[in-house]
Amino acid sequence: MEKIANYINGHMVGPVSGSYLDNFEPATGKVYSYIPDSSDEDVSKAVDAAMQAAKAWAELPNEKRSEWLVKIADRIEERMEEFAQAETRDNGKPISLSRTMDIPRSISNFRFFAHAITQFSGESHQMQGIGINYTLRQPLGVVACISPWNLPLYLLSWKIAPALAAGNAVVTKPSEITPYTAYLLAQVCMEVGLPPGVLNIVHGLGPKVGEAMCLHPKVKAISFTGGTATGKRIASIVAPQFKKMSLELGGKNPNIIFADCDYDEMLRTTVRSSFTNQGQICLCGSRIFVERPIYDKFKKDFISMVSSLKIGDPSEVDTKMGAVVSEAHLNKVVSYIALAKEEGGTVLCGGHRQWMTDRCAEGWFLQPAVIEGLPYDCRTNQEEIFGPVVTLMPFDTEEEVLMYANSTTYGLSATLWTSHLARAHRVSEKLEMGIVWVNCWLVRDLRTPFGGTKASGVGREGGFEALRFFTEPKNICISY
Ligand code: NDP
Repeated sequence: MEKIANYINGHMVGPVSGSYLDNFEPATGKVYSYIPDSSDEDVSKAVDAAMQAAKAWAELPNEKRSEWLVKIADRIEERMEEFAQAETRDNGKPISLSRTMDIPRSISNFRFFAHAITQFSGESHQMQGIGINYTLRQPLGVVACISPWNLPLYLLSWKIAPALAAGNAVVTKPSEITPYTAYLLAQVCMEVGLPPGVLNIVHGLGPKVGEAMCLHPKVKAISFTGGTATGKRIASIVAPQFKKMSLELGGKNPNIIFADCDYDEMLRTTVRSSFTNQGQICLCGSRIFVERPIYDKFKKDFISMVSSLKIGDPSEVDTKMGAVVSEAHLNKVVSYIALAKEEGGTVLCGGHRQWMTDRCAEGWFLQPAVIEGLPYDCRTNQEEIFGPVVTLMPFDTEEEVLMYANSTTYGLSATLWTSHLARAHRVSEKLEMGIVWVNCWLVRDLRTPFGGTKASGVGREGGFEALRFFTEPKNICISY
């Protein structure tokens, strides 16, 4: 069976320990490859390699680094189908999603930051008659990027691309649950001849490899996307070392539907915003609030559409719902459906494990669940489930729904459906979220600030925000 390798100093290498972890295919529930069970020794080697490479990489003109990123993007594009198949196999997501979202967006991430760095500049502040200040934006040196399993290459490249573009050398750890496309990315870096040590990929377990990256004294910044509990742990390690830190964490996003919305568009999009990627996107709207006059109609139409979503082998083109990423995660989601019932909820559809046949007979499939009858402040409506589960709640007034929407500890994103212009502005302004989509969902302009408030994170990614994070500003004041 295939063994994935670490990518350190331009070479594919095994872990120092010689031990490997099982890598499962969610659709079959079976092991299909092995990944390095790396340790702090592998992280040290990766950081040493990055240190060696950092100076020359930082000194390259922006245009040259930009060219390297474009080469990486072009090569991924040439191997697009292979990447898409690998992402689907590793994660369980429908192949249509890997082909249209995950891999194209990963390519866009490299292209976007290749161009963004050529437009990035420092500031200058003139003091009339006294002097002038100018602010340099210098690379940090070696930075660490740690990413989750739900959008494996998409989120990994969203961090690596700006870090490299800004002139840093990178050590990175993909999720141990979905390592494969990062391994393919390492192959791409070798194929295009990226200078050794500029990017280093170390596979393994979060508490061992991720934590070693956070603790390493030569690593100057940590960019992390994952769960809030892990973010808390990382913050507790990183903050006392005074390193820069960007945390993109969990969410419990409200989807607020007013009766005056474009109903058909809202319904189609709400099915997507609830269940794309089996509901395993941090931006999925898991709490659906519907204005009372259209509540019953919405409930009927929504259940009818959700019940007809094809759950199937993720490698088949017409599959809409693939497998959940792991057995442990499936059990966690199922336990939340049981909790919802204990809390007085009624499961209107789905919520059971879906047993398949043939090659997927032991795969981790779950029917999308729609639940109603729960109070806004119960655990089901307050805690992140991160799976194919949504709750429905009616509301009567703007004030009431704003109170429900803002009631959780999270503050990542919200979706709002209304054709009333003033209301769209008014409600958006009062939502305690980093991102609000009005009459759409997951429409992304990569220049915009991306991130959450409250327990959903610290800092912003995207556009120049990311380039600012991955650089240190230095102000120089010159007296006339
Ligand atoms: P985790 O927090 O479990 O893991 C994220 C990454 O951190 C993985 O690579 C993991 O490794 C690693 N890790 C785990 N423990 C540590 C540690 N102690 N020190 C350093 N690294 C560690 O998240 P999931 O992978 O389960 O992803 C799902 C979560 O991510 C959800 O909460 C979701 O909301 C959030 N998310 C947020 C997004 C945002 O932009 N705000 C976007 C996408 C997801 P390993 O896999 O080996 O455990």
